[in-house]
Amino acid sequence: MNADRCLEWAERYAQRGWPVFPVHSARVGVCTCRQVDCSSPAKHPLTTKGLKDASTDLEVIREWWRRWPEANVAIATGRGLVALDIDPRHEGDESLRALRRRVELPATAEVTTGGGGQHLYFAVPGVTIRNSASKLGKGLDVRGDGGYVVAPPSVHQSGQRYAWHGDAPVAEAPASLVALLAASDKASARERRSALGGWPTLVTERVREGERNETIASLAGLLLRRLEPVLAFGLLLGWNARFCDPPISEDEVAKTVDSIAGRELRSRVAR
Ligand SMILES: [Zn+2]
Repeated sequence: MNADRCLEWAERYAQRGWPVFPVHSARVGVCTCRQVDCSSPAKHPLTTKGLKDASTDLEVIREWWRRWPEANVAIATGRGLVALDIDPRHEGDESLRALRRRVELPATAEVTTGGGGQHLYFAVPGVTIRNSASKLGKGLDVRGDGGYVVAPPSVHQSGQRYAWHGDAPVAEAPASLVALLAASDKASARERRSALGGWPTLVTERVREGERNETIASLAGLLLRRLEPVLAFGLLLGWNARFCDPPISEDEVAKTVDSIAGRELRSRVAR
């Protein structure tokens, strides 16, 4: 019964370009691997390479579910898709409220996990965000490159199914959220710095839609190391109007500066 539904949804996810793979399920509270001390019940991969096997190939996917009809379905995040994984048992709901006070999160695709948690999906086109645990806040993990989420209609260890909550499509992450995600991701910061050898192109070439948010976030980070936020904001507005194609809204630029300035101001006080 689980079989058909998870397969059907796996196909649907694959068709929209999200690579999927089968993971264990749960029966009467026990992981289908049948290890009583399983460390990741109803969430760990069934295939040998797990995440690395993730595929959008419908034939491959159907073969997996022929072999493991009861499998849960997992979506590989990254390549432009991130999920915020909120675990209320570790104060994730409080961390999400704190995040919402800093960043205006748009309505987006949302999953209720069978265990009382929540997954918020965001598109981050052209941006690499890696996995991180509790860097945005306690109980608030980021699933990005190198990560995955168990997706509806999988069965949680609790016996409840993961379910889509509402019908909002996946929203693009606002620049201020991308700035926070990038800040919580040191590897991505390193990548950006090495890309900054390319700074001069920022005043010779126009920045396209999928790259605007991350570019303005890194530029804001650079300016805020030297300049007061109000001056950095003024310069960014001019740069945005001249080089972003099309420019992002002034509100978004302001929020990006606010998010990054909060961090920069704190680090200056710490020195
Ligand atoms: Zn297990």
